[in-house]
Amino acid sequence: MLTKGIDVRASRTHNVGLFATETVPAGTAVWAPCTKCSRWSKEEVAALPEARFTALDTYGHLLRDGSLLLPCLGAYLMNHSCEANVLDLGLDFGIAVRDIAPGEEVTCDYATFVEDAGWSMRCLCRGPGCRGTVTTDQGGDPAVTGRWKDRVEQALRQLPEVDQPLHDVLAPLSEPYGRALRGLSTLDQVSSGASVCAPSFVR
Ligand SMILES: [Zn+2]
Ligand SMILES: [Zn+2]
Repeated sequence: MLTKGIDVRASRTHNVGLFATETVPAGTAVWAPCTKCSRWSKEEVAALPEARFTALDTYGHLLRDGSLLLPCLGAYLMNHSCEANVLDLGLDFGIAVRDIAPGEEVTCDYATFVEDAGWSMRCLCRGPGCRGTVTTDQGGDPAVTGRWKDRVEQALRQLPEVDQPLHDVLAPLSEPYGRALRGLSTLDQVSSGASVCAPSFVR
């Protein structure tokens, strides 16, 4: 699922990417794995020809149960940046960690998809903090997750204050969203163990 005010356009770093068409305020839930996303079971994944798996895994990601999920409504087209403006540490949805201006590309950090063990990509983001190569192992690296944590907790404090176009999707689906909406804002308080790689509807 993907929030409103985001469109597909040509991207500087990839063929296409997602771009804000209106301001997406910090604290907005931007995307989430949901029950409408396409999914392939662990058995179906094992039966996929390698080229097909690689193509699907480029846009989708593996979940903790071994299934592969392709985020719906074009959310699968979100590109990586080492200075991502959408992060999901400790959450089962991606949250805008700063205001995203109209025309700005909406990005997440692919290191977050930790169930894709050993996955890596040369990064072209050229941001000041670019890691050069992005790996899913970095999703367990405290040097990386420490920076994510500060940004996510700051965004969680904004969450109850801003319009949430995905409210009707997330309210029944996401315990972390519900906790943040009630004003909790540290990851210790908000996290339920669910993540974008282990959404609650998959367990
Ligand atoms: Zn979905
Ligand atoms: Zn980079």
